[in-house]
Amino acid sequence: MSDVKIDISGLRKSFGQLEVLGGVDQRVESGEVVCVIGPSGSGKSTFLRCVNLLEQPTAGRIVVDGMELTDPDTDIDVARARIGMVFQQFNLFTHLSVLDNLTVAQRKVLGRDRTKAESVAGENLRKVGLEDKAGSMPGRLSGGQQQRVGIARALAMDPDVMLFDEPTSALDPELVGDVLGVMRRLADEGMTMLVVTHEMQFAREVADRVLFMDGGVIVEQGPPAEVIGAPQQERTRGFLARVL
Ligand code: ADP
Ligand code: MG
Repeated sequence: MSDVKIDISGLRKSFGQLEVLGGVDQRVESGEVVCVIGPSGSGKSTFLRCVNLLEQPTAGRIVVDGMELTDPDTDIDVARARIGMVFQQFNLFTHLSVLDNLTVAQRKVLGRDRTKAESVAGENLRKVGLEDKAGSMPGRLSGGQQQRVGIARALAMDPDVMLFDEPTSALDPELVGDVLGVMRRLADEGMTMLVVTHEMQFAREVADRVLFMDGGVIVEQGPPAEVIGAPQQERTRGFLARVL
């Protein structure tokens, strides 16, 4: 049994005539934290969304924890339930309490009963430091708290991998640290994570590997000390000069 958690080969995605991903190959090992950096419009979100089939790839093969998502015979709802996703805009159910945000998919998708779902929800709210907010409505929470609820909601599904798409980009600067702290702990616990981020300090300290994307391809990849600290490609250097 190999411990490759995410295995992507020949991934292409076009919207009409616009080719957004021009052939991406990537293997992420169990427990690895991979940060994806690159300019706006380079295809980072599309790449992440293809990994759980929120976007249907135009070509290529995606295997997550041994399940081929791109196989038409795979039950995509079952597969997707094992892939946690955290979005820039939180995407919480605003009409549901924090607790219900965490239990609804556990009950509907995993078939857990209320008691079990609420106990798992409680554990995960504790993990993100929000055990006292179970009864709150999301709108009453700060952006940083809402995003930590988003992370707890994903974790409550016992995912094999976690995908993060700029999880701190919508937050006021003083709220970013708490969310990154939760992600850092998750990484320390051995979660396999694919993280699109502009937080270069986080990428430097937490990532095992950094991918620099531009124009729908991975231009450069390697340990953060190399890709961020000593980039080889001109395009990587140009991007870092603008963001650092
Ligand atoms: P990034 O996350 O790196 O900013 P995206 O993956 O969001 O980049 O977008 C890459 C390109 O794909 C952009 O040109 C964007 O306009 C285009 N794009 C993304 N989603 C769609 C869509 N649903 N329909 C058409 N074009 C899209
Ligand atoms: Mg994006």
